[in-house]
Amino acid sequence: MTDRRVTSACIVGGGTAGWMTAAALANRLAGLGVRVRLIESEEIGTVGVGEATLPHIRAFNATLGIAEPELMRATEATYKLGIEFCDWGRIGDRYIHPFGNYGPEEDGIPFYHQWLRLRAMGDAGRLDDYSYPVIAAEQNRFRHPASEPGRVESSFGYAYQFDASLYAAFLRRYAETRGVERIEGKVVDVALDGEGGFVRDVTLADGRTIGAELFIDCSGFRGLLIEGALQSGYDDWSRWLPCDRAVAVPTESRGPLGPYTRATARTAGWQWRIPLQHRVGNGHVYCSDFISDDEAERQLVDHLDAPMQANPRRLRFTTGRRRDFWKRNVVAIGLASGFLEPLESTSIHLIQDGITELLALFPDRDFAAEDIDEYNRRMALHFERVRDFLLLHYVATERDDSPMWRHFRALTLPDSLAHKIDTWRTRGYVVPYQFGLFLPPSWVAVMLGQRLMPGAYDPRVEMIAPDALAAQAAALRAEVAGAVQATPDHADYIRRSPAAA
Ligand code: FAD
Repeated sequence: MTDRRVTSACIVGGGTAGWMTAAALANRLAGLGVRVRLIESEEIGTVGVGEATLPHIRAFNATLGIAEPELMRATEATYKLGIEFCDWGRIGDRYIHPFGNYGPEEDGIPFYHQWLRLRAMGDAGRLDDYSYPVIAAEQNRFRHPASEPGRVESSFGYAYQFDASLYAAFLRRYAETRGVERIEGKVVDVALDGEGGFVRDVTLADGRTIGAELFIDCSGFRGLLIEGALQSGYDDWSRWLPCDRAVAVPTESRGPLGPYTRATARTAGWQWRIPLQHRVGNGHVYCSDFISDDEAERQLVDHLDAPMQANPRRLRFTTGRRRDFWKRNVVAIGLASGFLEPLESTSIHLIQDGITELLALFPDRDFAAEDIDEYNRRMALHFERVRDFLLLHYVATERDDSPMWRHFRALTLPDSLAHKIDTWRTRGYVVPYQFGLFLPPSWVAVMLGQRLMPGAYDPRVEMIAPDALAAQAAALRAEVAGAVQATPDHADYIRRSPAAA
């Protein structure tokens, strides 16, 4: 067998996607003899937003051997227990989508069925009262999960709210230390070889050419290689998710430090609030069919709760994904591969998915079509699953108070989402997805949080005597309340942890 190993890879772009990819390749391909170079242009810069993450990022960091205290210090991070959604089901509603379940499963039946029955009996309280991460988040408290199974304090996950630009800078140091070569320059031309149309090299503004066997396009929305050179094509999903712009602004940190991100629904989009150690990130994602840029900025500024630290920045995007995430010898990762609005903090996670799948199917110089197809199939599923979950937030609502909300009322849903909602409506069953990022508890959080009530509960909970059901629920509520009482204040916890050193 001849040695067909890839010996050179070139990453184009040094945003979060570029440096996450570079760090992962440096770590996971060490010893394989692959020369990794990364080209980035300070003049072009990065997208400069992106602060809320998902718990899976901890596994990514752990694989790289990054210690949490070091990461927290380098990125001004806070902890995140979930996302608070305000005004989504109805104006005035609020709920938290936590990184965790509600109550324990009994005989394979999720706890929320017990809650639904208690509710039918007129005695349930809030579902939130059965979730340790929700109550801890509401009281601005945090601790790491307990290691003893069976305790409510062990029943949750957590993520970070951090400065993604600082995260990229941190990973740059990591990658450079492990041999990744950074090249400052602006790519002005992409050359394909005559035969297969593979990318042969890129030319920089100063005339240098950089060749490689494998190219990873992390050039942001531009998709310099995957679209500019290889014309992969783009599946535009605006018909389902019409928001196409954002305006972002940081504010001073004031008041208690929340271990959660907030997403507040507005008339033509929604507003985010993400507390970091040194500032709060804010932004308004909106749909330009329903609101002007100036009005969207005014709405954002009017709803800020602290002084701005900079002028608001405007961004444009088209929701959707590349038809081919991987084409010939180019793999697109990050914004170059597609974009879904940050309502559930999924973009950095989709970068992680792209890297994980690339490592699983890492090519040799034959670039087998079967492997490329499989990569594209998997990434398409990752994107579609997230799309469905985001769309759920807009359609599980009673709101009809503006043209945007009325637009969603009239929408034909993707079959995959329609099936999931229809099945939920009958008896509260959540159809699990293969390759789904969001597991059933996340769907339950949003559906119940936004008043999408099922017509019935799992009939098997009828086997529990009503008194026993009520007593069990009361005991669980008391356990959650007691555990949260013993949980430290989030800001104090960060101050006292080694991260503050
Ligand atoms: P970019 O940051 O745009 O980087 C592109 C890189 O390519 C840069 O280094 C640039 O210099 C380089 N480049 C481009 N053209 C050339 C050229 N010709 N020559 C050389 N170099 C070039 N994600 C989350 O997970 N959580 C969030 O809360 C979140 N919020 C977001 C809010 C908004 C409004 C938006 C738009 C995105 C948000 N994201 C969020 C997404 C997140 O910002 C991105 O996924 C992440 O930053 C990765 O971006 P990137 O590296 O793909 O692209």
